Amino acid sequence: MESYGVFDRVPAAGGVRERLMVAARAAHGHGDSGMTHAWLFTGPPGSGRSVAAEAFAAALLCENSEQPGCGMCHGCQTALAGTHSDLFTVRTEGTIIQVDLVRFRVIPWAYRKPSTAAWRVVIIEDADRLNDQSANALLKAVEEPPERTAFLMCAPTTNPADFSVTLRSRSRHVYVPTPTPEDVSEVLRAQFPELTDEQAQWAATVSNGHIGRARGLATDPGTREWRKKALDMVEAVFNPAVSYLRTFEIAASAKAEAERRLQSREEEELSKLEEALGIGARGKGAQTALRGTKGDIKRLEEDQKRRRQRTERDLIDLALVDVMGLFRDAMVVSVGAASGATPLIHIDRGQTAAEIARRVPQEGILECLDAVTDTRNQLGTAVTSRVLLDGLMGQLQLSCRVGVR
Ligand SMILES: [Zn+2]
Repeated sequence: MESYGVFDRVPAAGGVRERLMVAARAAHGHGDSGMTHAWLFTGPPGSGRSVAAEAFAAALLCENSEQPGCGMCHGCQTALAGTHSDLFTVRTEGTIIQVDLVRFRVIPWAYRKPSTAAWRVVIIEDADRLNDQSANALLKAVEEPPERTAFLMCAPTTNPADFSVTLRSRSRHVYVPTPTPEDVSEVLRAQFPELTDEQAQWAATVSNGHIGRARGLATDPGTREWRKKALDMVEAVFNPAVSYLRTFEIAASAKAEAERRLQSREEEELSKLEEALGIGARGKGAQTALRGTKGDIKRLEEDQKRRRQRTERDLIDLALVDVMGLFRDAMVVSVGAASGATPLIHIDRGQTAAEIARRVPQEGILECLDAVTDTRNQLGTAVTSRVLLDGLMGQLQLSCRVGVR
């Protein structure tokens, strides 16, 4: 299979890969068109808009100017790992990106010259979380950009509710469409040569075009286990003896799973912070330094706690997406389209889809889909996930006429 270096990660759909490759070459002095300082990547969740931005960043930071984005050099590899010294990734666990972060950290950083690479790159992952103030602060840098700095912003859409209209008008827009299962499977095989075609295709299909999801399902047993729990919950709808055990399991394991996924990242952050603060240093000044650091460590712990809660919520949402997928499959079976142009998402749970289709009338299946949507909308409110999931189970059993003869 032909390799595109770091662009192997970017699905072929929509010509995104080619556009970015041309721009990266221009950025390294080959051709004078295609490169600009501000980019906006949009696309539905899972389409890979941040994957595209990350690959493009790596190509700008690549040391191989003849084939930027080679994927082999130190620049590409540290960029993809997020540790390159000329890369600044803005992520937030909060609902807005605060203006102080932009004004006092991002902008001063962006105005420095690249330290080792040809460019400096700022990635703003959730640019829809810029509020008016922080978008305005950023706008100045985007309008008169530092010579060798690129701003790569990611947002769901260019809708004014998602993204500042003025920033939009100063940025080049790249729309990243939802990839087809074939695209996803190609990306997986390029990135993980150890996967068989069958494994890659399975993950691409059951993830329903969501790249990050597909990657997890293909490579991480914990992710596969999580999906299994979600789908088992649907099977339990018809089995009142275990149904509430399943919802309890999902709520309880979301917490444990969030911890498992974040543990190494959290430990690394803490040791980095301790190192930066000189904890462990002895002698004069060490005590004074320690006093000031308590606040920093506390702030980090609070950030980590918020992130864990968000991850827990995201995990439950993910489970609900799988649950919806299975009811959607049941609908496909029910209307008799399963063998035609509409393949099932959860191909390995075709029997459950068939059982739902056999036992539940179509309006009942639609009610189930609505109930899952309602539950997803309520995630992150004050109601606990346990209560939400129990409520959902009750609604699903009602709509599936469980216990009704
Ligand atoms: Zn490279």
